[in-house]
Amino acid sequence: MLKIEHIGIAVKNLEISNEIFSKIFNKPHYKEEEVVSEGVKTSFFQLADSKIELLEATHTESPIAKFIDKKGEGIHHIAFEVEDIWAEMKRLEAEGFTLLNTEPKNGADNKLVCFLHPKTTNSVLIELCQEKNKA
Ligand code: ZN
Repeated sequence: MLKIEHIGIAVKNLEISNEIFSKIFNKPHYKEEEVVSEGVKTSFFQLADSKIELLEATHTESPIAKFIDKKGEGIHHIAFEVEDIWAEMKRLEAEGFTLLNTEPKNGADNKLVCFLHPKTTNSVLIELCQEKNKA
């Protein structure tokens, strides 16, 4: 793994949270993006080499809606950048971790992503991500 790429924070209202985090960081987000397959609307803030991703559910069956129902707003996942997501998935699966998907999925911000089940990671939801090759 290369570095912490971003930290994902589950929020109830993206507009309100954009304002809060703009004030904290003293700069606006650089993009908003909906990931329809995950039922989320995301907002990204860049801080030097790392990012903060705010996530708002777009419907009640969204994993973010379920997370907020159970735990309330707050840190949802930590994303680590990897060089080769397929190789890392294979390696971690061989180590006994449970992957939430068998193939990398399209994530926000031009990434291929895969999540590790928190049951096998001390309750920390871990996202592996790899920048998609720019065509
Ligand atoms: Zn993420």
